[in-house]
Amino acid sequence: MLDTPHPTPVAPCLDQQKLATALSGLHFIGGRYVPAISGQSFAVVNPATGIEVARAAEGDAQDVDAAVRDAARAQKEWAKVPARKRGALVHQCAALLKEHQEELARLIALETGKALRTESRVEAGVVADVFEFFGGLGSELKGESVPFAPNVLSVTVREPLGVVGAIIPWNVPMLLMALKVAPALVAGNTVVVKSAEEAPLAVLRICELMNRILPAGCFNMVSGMGPECGAPLVEHPLVRKVTFTGSVETGKIVAKAASQKLVPVTLELGGKSPMIVFQDCDFAKTVSGALTSMRFTRQGQSCTAASRIYVERPIFDAFVAEMKKAVDGMVMGDPLDEKTDIGTIISQGQFEKVQAYIAEGKATAGATAHECSAMPSDPALKKGLFLRPVIFTGLDGSSRLVKEEIFGPVTVIQAFDDPEAVLAEANDSDYGLAASLWTNNLKVGLDLAHRLEAGLVQINQNLVVQANLSYGGVKSSGLGKEASLEAMLEHFTHKKTIMVNMG
Ligand code: ADP
Repeated sequence: MLDTPHPTPVAPCLDQQKLATALSGLHFIGGRYVPAISGQSFAVVNPATGIEVARAAEGDAQDVDAAVRDAARAQKEWAKVPARKRGALVHQCAALLKEHQEELARLIALETGKALRTESRVEAGVVADVFEFFGGLGSELKGESVPFAPNVLSVTVREPLGVVGAIIPWNVPMLLMALKVAPALVAGNTVVVKSAEEAPLAVLRICELMNRILPAGCFNMVSGMGPECGAPLVEHPLVRKVTFTGSVETGKIVAKAASQKLVPVTLELGGKSPMIVFQDCDFAKTVSGALTSMRFTRQGQSCTAASRIYVERPIFDAFVAEMKKAVDGMVMGDPLDEKTDIGTIISQGQFEKVQAYIAEGKATAGATAHECSAMPSDPALKKGLFLRPVIFTGLDGSSRLVKEEIFGPVTVIQAFDDPEAVLAEANDSDYGLAASLWTNNLKVGLDLAHRLEAGLVQINQNLVVQANLSYGGVKSSGLGKEASLEAMLEHFTHKKTIMVNMG
């Protein structure tokens, strides 16, 4: 339990601005809220209005050191708690998070601009589900017995790695944090999370909520800039495992730093996920699947966004027309309004980056930009980072819009004639995170599913990451898996061999 008064409301708080203010300027270390040692803070801005809604503690190496030392102290005791009991505590956390689902949804909508109904509420629900799932896996931390010799008992046991340093991005911060924290804790590790600059509030609130149930020091949270706060966490000698979700460039820096200490790293990086549509698909289901696959409700800010769509030529024109019509029907507006389907881009920097891709696409000879939906008319949102979704046609595989991850509401649709040629195009990418195939011909679908270079291939659906299904990419999309029992065993424990000679 906390030994200092709560600066934040104890009961679920549906006033997101009040909660954001209360969370201002704080880290959560060793079971309590503390300010940054330097006293510094940075602005958290609502991207729908441009208004500062909170300050976040600007952590540096000193704060990271304090958090890691507390986590290391706590880990010694946490590892002694029976695995099933650890799981039960994590399960209790899930129940508490469910009670706070609406509060967390409103808070994440405020700081990220993600629409409440279509995105934020969904994320808050899945977070609780992830903790519930891993909470049930305590007794799965099993070892093996090995037939070595008749008079020698040889067994393996699963042991925690120690302190885990977790670095997360801003697009689905609560869920991506849960995928790291839940298995790490159940496996007997303790965790220090470094939140993303743009979205530090909801994850901090989750950390505090879970600290009402977990022993102090098991789950700690710092905020700050990547090089000043993230890098010291990766480099800290007491951090024995690093798990990172973010860009390929930063992932490489993180992996290099971790390799200097020889600690294991899990990396979930970018994607450029192909969606391949055959003419025998269920047309209406596939058009609606394309909207979900592109994550338009999240302004396309997803590593698994279907940002390259290949459609078999006979249905190409009809598909483009129907997709445009469907996206036109989506409402862009105030993220906290129940009528809103599409919220905002996260930050000015990201906004400009996406705009530059759109401008480049429009300037390409032969390209057509189908701009969809409509800008919100509410004057309170005039400074909001809203971008109309764009469907490009007439671009080919050499375009940067087809090759690079845009992380915005932009997709390119190309026509294809031959399954082998489209497979080659789909695989002609540095990335390999996810892919989807839309066909009623299972023979073709399964054949291509086996040959697509991606960590996750779905036929006739394109869901986001789900608890119990291994998730993670190949090629530049990352190293290692998350979300499953195997991921917990492989990435948050090591296998110790114990031999007893009874001869
Ligand atoms: P994005 O472009 O999506 O912000 P980044 O990979 O830059 O992606 O950021 C993802 C996370 O990595 C953020 O929490 C960020 O602060 C952190 N980060 C950035 N640079 C570093 C670094 N050098 N070392 C560790 N973490 C970093």
